[in-house]
Amino acid sequence: MNHKFIPLSVPNLKGNELKYVADAIESEWVSTAGPYVNTFEEKVAEYVHTAGAVSCQNGTSGLHVSLMLTGVTGEDAVFVPTLTFIAAVNPVKYIGARPIFIDCDESLCMDPEKVESFCREECVFEDGRLVEKESGRHVKALLVVHVFGNMADMEALMRIAEKYNLKVVEDATEAIGTYYTAGKYAGKYAGTIGDVGVYSFNGNKIITTGGGGMIVSDRKDYLQRAKHLTTQAKSDELYFIHDEVGYNYRMTNLQAALGLAQLEQLEDFIRIKEENYRKYRDALNGKKGLMLLDVRENIRCNRWFYALMCDGYFRSRDELIRYLSENDVQSRPVWGLIHEQVPYKQDRAYRIEKALHFWKYIVNIPCSTNLTEADVRRVSQLILEETVEGKGS
Ligand SMILES: *Cc1c(COP(=O)(O)O)cnc(C)c1O
Repeated sequence: MNHKFIPLSVPNLKGNELKYVADAIESEWVSTAGPYVNTFEEKVAEYVHTAGAVSCQNGTSGLHVSLMLTGVTGEDAVFVPTLTFIAAVNPVKYIGARPIFIDCDESLCMDPEKVESFCREECVFEDGRLVEKESGRHVKALLVVHVFGNMADMEALMRIAEKYNLKVVEDATEAIGTYYTAGKYAGKYAGTIGDVGVYSFNGNKIITTGGGGMIVSDRKDYLQRAKHLTTQAKSDELYFIHDEVGYNYRMTNLQAALGLAQLEQLEDFIRIKEENYRKYRDALNGKKGLMLLDVRENIRCNRWFYALMCDGYFRSRDELIRYLSENDVQSRPVWGLIHEQVPYKQDRAYRIEKALHFWKYIVNIPCSTNLTEADVRRVSQLILEETVEGKGS
């Protein structure tokens, strides 16, 4: 049987992408200045209701700048998750700060209970500073990741941050469009609850600029400084005066043109992802020990990635991935835990338990917004193969 290949997560570029990019080219504004950059920044800020937004080359550079905004230096320590993509944590090392790895909860995001117990048991809190006993370092910030588009438990995390005077950087690179529908943060988007948030527009994210990122915040001083740092810290246009070390992290007009067209479709993409999530869930949940993970209550989730738990499944995770691959369906395990990776082995990892379990059993299955109903059915049937009658039909 010949089937088309079903990739894990690919871009969907059927809106105004070509039109806007062609317009940018015709105007000959293709680099880091140009009207699409400003418009895209304004539209993102409008969409997530923040005071402003500053575009950058990618999510990683956005996170690097965000950590600098919060005042984290090479002397400090930062709480980070272990179950996530390594780009979330590398910027902590760029700065020379010490990461402290925290376990996840059932949402796959940072577990507030473990952050709290670490603060209580492993630190002293004096004069408004949380100091890790082992290293003597000031734990200055908490970097939370909204994994797969799930909202982390921001109510609990913000409470802890307030109590211990921690700055909060939200890695919302996977979660643009996710927001609280009720509770203390009703209407608040992932990335807009802490001090500063970052989105990514990499090719596999829910909307893409090829590569790109965006820093959002309600703090005007942060936004100004973000723009400064991403533009080589140039404080005089004519005479090229630089008052500190800056970075060439600005987004180009071409990327922004693409981004603007993508943003126009974001709500449609989320709707499609939610529909496909439901189709997978109805087909798979409770069958053969399978479980498509859900999100916490009172969250409108962008459903970027689907995480299938196969702990009671008749095949192992790797067998399932191989089997799907043999049948032209791409899937993958969750990222290797960061605290076990070579550059981080020496760093502190605190009571990592749940992340190990999720790491062992999660399989990410195709989630592109281009998926057809037949694709979702085919993937589901392959996964259930032995229990489905008339397979392949
Ligand atoms: C994609 C991603 C990033 C980095 O974004 P880039 O745009 O690829 O640099 C950072 N953190 C997480 C959790 C991501 O998924």
